[in-house]
Amino acid sequence: MFDVNLLRKDFPILSREVNGQPLVYLDNAATSQTPKQVVEVISDYYYRYNANIHRGVHKLSQEATDAYEKARATIQKHFNAEHPYEIILTAGTTESINCVASGYASLLKKGDELLISALEHHSNIVPWQMLCEKTGAQLKVIPMTLQGTLDMEAFDTLLNYKTQLVFVNHVSNALGTINHIQEIIEKSHAKGAKVLIDGAQASPHIKADVQALDVDYYVTSAHKLCGPTGVGMLYGKSELLNLLPAYQGGGEMIATVSFEKTTYAGLPHKFEAGTPNIAGGIAFGAALDYMNEIGFEVIAKYEAELLAYATTALEKIEGLKIYGEALEKTAVISFNVGSIHPYDIGSILDQMGIAVRTGHHCAQPIMDFYKIPGTVRASFSFYNTFEEIDLLEKGIRRAVAMLQ
Ligand SMILES: *Cc1c(COP(=O)(O)O)cnc(C)c1O
Repeated sequence: MFDVNLLRKDFPILSREVNGQPLVYLDNAATSQTPKQVVEVISDYYYRYNANIHRGVHKLSQEATDAYEKARATIQKHFNAEHPYEIILTAGTTESINCVASGYASLLKKGDELLISALEHHSNIVPWQMLCEKTGAQLKVIPMTLQGTLDMEAFDTLLNYKTQLVFVNHVSNALGTINHIQEIIEKSHAKGAKVLIDGAQASPHIKADVQALDVDYYVTSAHKLCGPTGVGMLYGKSELLNLLPAYQGGGEMIATVSFEKTTYAGLPHKFEAGTPNIAGGIAFGAALDYMNEIGFEVIAKYEAELLAYATTALEKIEGLKIYGEALEKTAVISFNVGSIHPYDIGSILDQMGIAVRTGHHCAQPIMDFYKIPGTVRASFSFYNTFEEIDLLEKGIRRAVAMLQ
């Protein structure tokens, strides 16, 4: 049985006060909160077996290595990768994308085309623009619709045999739209293009099966799914990762080093230069364990109820317009009220202890499309409650009364 009040006890931060009011945390799309079980895994590492991995013969180093590789196996199993070495542990989604983008610098040529979606986070735009500058490849954009979905007819037209790579997020962080990635992957493969899916916003809500999707690269960050910041994943099919040049040079990623010639280590170490975020990697595994214990189907069902309840409540507020009305959405509501600046609503909500995001949400092209400076975004997690949505609704009404 799903008991939200019991689960909330795992998150001490949820019982703190902000500006004299109980915290209502609705900024989960920016980062999620971390349960005690995951925090304890981090402190346990530092208290009991802090040591560098893959190097020492000593006991602590072996324990740390085992825990780190066990976490990699947990992540592999969660995303159903075929091999553990297809899971590269990175600093997060941004680094994972940069790792792939920098690798393609020597694999692309002038005239090649890259296809990106209009719904992307800046971290899935800028590295590809940099790659295009280096290679002379051309970036083309799959346009979006007013509803906040991708224009799939335009996608069919844009995709062609010059297309080398396609990048789309699984879920838009600004609007909550769940993109039709299976269709995008199948169609891209039919034209010989590889696909990278930015799963940062999907991972807390949807369990992606990389083999069933037949996706080439899938990336995410631990901090969006109850894990710590500064750690994430790059999944890649091993035959592709083997072809991709190394990202950074340094220790850990080499087989042999001499001043004449250095040879690189195999996967995953080729892409893991230097001492990683060891505690973070171990905690990433613990976060997935925590969420799987609740169950992703249970989470999705509860969050869908929260979304439906919140949408109905907010739509009743006069002048409130929701951006992103895809039929398939995660629990994100991006909105504005009349011509009130989103920042003003966000500031007043903060006075009431309600944490929402305001601004362009690192997706400026979406805001430009709607010709707005930004939105207020309330994003929900499985630990949010219906009472918190009532407080949000009341808070918005009060803010609007003060600002109009
Ligand atoms: C959060 C997010 C990112 C960036 O993740 P980092 O952890 O900051 O690297 C990229 N894409 C989407 C869709 C996101 O939600």
